[in-house]
Amino acid sequence: MAVQTIAGNATTAPLDLGPAAALSCRECGERFELGPLFACASCFGPLEVAYDLPTGSPEELRGRIEAGPDNIWRYAPLLPVPADVADKPNLNPGFTKLVKADNLARELGVTGGLYVKDDSGNPTHSFKDRVVAIAVEAARAFGFTTLSCSSTGNLAGAVGAAAARAGLRSCVFIPHDLEQGKVVMAAVYGGELVGIEGNYDDVNRFCSELIGDPLGEGWGFVNVNLRPYYGEGSKTLAYEICEQLGWRLPDQIVIPIASGSQLTKIDKGLQELIKLGLVEDRPYKIFGAQAEGCSPVSAAFKAGHDVVRPQKPNTIAKSLAIGNPADGPYVLDIARRTGGAVEDVTDEQVVDAIKLLARTEGIFGETAGGVTLGVTKKLIEAGVIDPALTTVVVNTGDGLKTLDAVSVTSQATATIKPSLDAFRAAGLGTA
Ligand SMILES: *Cc1c(COP(=O)(O)O)cnc(C)c1O
Repeated sequence: MAVQTIAGNATTAPLDLGPAAALSCRECGERFELGPLFACASCFGPLEVAYDLPTGSPEELRGRIEAGPDNIWRYAPLLPVPADVADKPNLNPGFTKLVKADNLARELGVTGGLYVKDDSGNPTHSFKDRVVAIAVEAARAFGFTTLSCSSTGNLAGAVGAAAARAGLRSCVFIPHDLEQGKVVMAAVYGGELVGIEGNYDDVNRFCSELIGDPLGEGWGFVNVNLRPYYGEGSKTLAYEICEQLGWRLPDQIVIPIASGSQLTKIDKGLQELIKLGLVEDRPYKIFGAQAEGCSPVSAAFKAGHDVVRPQKPNTIAKSLAIGNPADGPYVLDIARRTGGAVEDVTDEQVVDAIKLLARTEGIFGETAGGVTLGVTKKLIEAGVIDPALTTVVVNTGDGLKTLDAVSVTSQATATIKPSLDAFRAAGLGTA
């Protein structure tokens, strides 16, 4: 257990973040003591959690994980959380279903096995519960009393719920024009919810200012000053997919991109599993998915650029509407290094894909899920995703939060008087 005090922080409580050893710069590798830092003091590169990873045999570690709880805490030895994390008041997200999507596979002509990792099954119905759960532990360790974030919608709800459960105050920030499902989900847990007149990039800029101001003192912004810890939560998606495939890497994974954090950390999680010997080391490809109306990473990928040029978002996939994605360049690296790709689809294709997933597998995903499946379909048709290989599509959120996307075309087939004559007249009986 690492016991240390944080320089420049009033709290002197012992710091226990399990196997987390330090923060290290993704660009220059410089190491820093664990603390609420997110940018390298030397080169401004993003900081990542570095670990003293478990040293036992893969068999022993696999056994320990499998004997753990049915949530992300089964991977506590690989996360920046204290060993007794499962005993604390938190929402225990994760271990969501990996659905073998045979009907969808038939429709798309996939023969190598198609799976949907359905993260709508998390406590607040999106993958954001994973990242927030880790950030809460960091907030507790650093003595923060208010939990905050800049959000495209789902994160605000996840922070509100986790703070309520943990007994922390919350104050979260969203663009003012989000879907009602997201607004209500963010407000219902009783914390403060602030709509900002602007898009997500404006919200994020505002939060960065607030961090430097006395108004934001003692606040843990899960995706800003706690971002290195927050990001680690996404690794659990990689761990779960592999464990649920029988400790095997999938050949191809398709992941939606907003800031790009999730995609980069899924790759980090897969690399760790290989390094620890928990899965066989063989090639995998990572594909990123965006909506055409907010496709800065996809545009850079297709143009062969290393830099991501910011865009002004205009898409129904609001949870992915980040025009200036912090991890964009790393997403490009990963897609290119693994032989994957980044692609985008129109809003119309997003709606079609939402309905395709619902119709074939009984899963109602949000617009982000439509983006991911839409891109999967497009890349299969283009011969970029190989239908003969095992493919996992991540559905990151719940369609109940984005009803507007499908409400025009998903209505009652008929509205009739309660009589058999009326039913017959509507032409719906067997005869
Ligand atoms: C936030 C979010 C994402 C992507 O998140 P990043 O890590 O910022 O790329 C994907 N899907 C949904 C539903 C989200 O809310």
